Amino acid sequence: MTDIYAVLGNPIAHSKSPFIHQLFAKQTQQDLVYRAELVPLDAFAQTVSQLRAEGLKGCNVTVPFKLEAWLLADQLTPRAKDAGAVNTLVFQDGVILGDNTDGAGLVRDIQVNLGVGFAGKRVLLLGAGGAAQGVTQPILAEHPASLTICNRSIAKAQHLQTTIAPSAEVITFDDLAGRQYDIVINATSAGLTDQQLPLPNGLFAERALAYDMMYGRETPFIAFARQQGTQVADGLGMLLEQAAEAFFVWRGIRPDTAVLISGFQE
Ligand code: NDP
Repeated sequence: MTDIYAVLGNPIAHSKSPFIHQLFAKQTQQDLVYRAELVPLDAFAQTVSQLRAEGLKGCNVTVPFKLEAWLLADQLTPRAKDAGAVNTLVFQDGVILGDNTDGAGLVRDIQVNLGVGFAGKRVLLLGAGGAAQGVTQPILAEHPASLTICNRSIAKAQHLQTTIAPSAEVITFDDLAGRQYDIVINATSAGLTDQQLPLPNGLFAERALAYDMMYGRETPFIAFARQQGTQVADGLGMLLEQAAEAFFVWRGIRPDTAVLISGFQE
């Protein structure tokens, strides 16, 4: 019998997940279908229970339901617990397991696909929202020399520091002047509205990487980094890698993302 998976969100029409997972299924010869479900804003739990009754094996969860998914899960993986959000649900033996594959996806994209290691590097994470929270622990696990979290509202960054990252330093954009970093990750949503972040000249060290979690458009952050002569990358690789990690959680087999990443960029 063909297994069924889905991505749940609102809106959902733009999601690339069905396309990506069908590619993974074809590549790994797994018998499954993956569909997109538009979930009413007030009916996440109800929709999950309906889908489980229909026999779904699992689902991905996207905006705005990652926190609700975290609350709904009967069990959480350690990385989902740290992230405070769930992007992958597994339905098995009457139990809902919540996982978060965003951090693993980001780390793999930067280290494996882009060939930039975190070990010994000065890392700057811009933003302290859901995406930043999901990647903080996975970055720290790679032993950077330092992790600095910079957020517009300092309280949110301090909360992140207190709850999951006591070894991280917390600053605001005003504190960035005169500092240099080897890896700068933009986990703010400023690019969605084409807003420029107040970043100083000289922020990027020699041979630094500027990584924007957003994909599909040239954000002001990427434009600024290019202008500073820095290597840049967007979040498409992260999207593929977090999907591959979810696929692995469900199916126990890891798709070859390298082939797909080059296909996407053509
Ligand atoms: P949240 O809404 O949870 O957080 C938004 C963050 O952006 C906050 O830290 C907020 O700061 C900051 N921010 C927003 N506008 C500005 C601005 N003009 N100047 C400075 N800071 C700003 O969003 P998420 O964390 O869920 O998502 C962040 C980004 O990551 C999105 O663009 C999303 O598309 C992307 N993403 C990509 C993924 C991928 O697979 N490639 C996966 C997940 C997310 P403040 O606290 O001060 O409001």
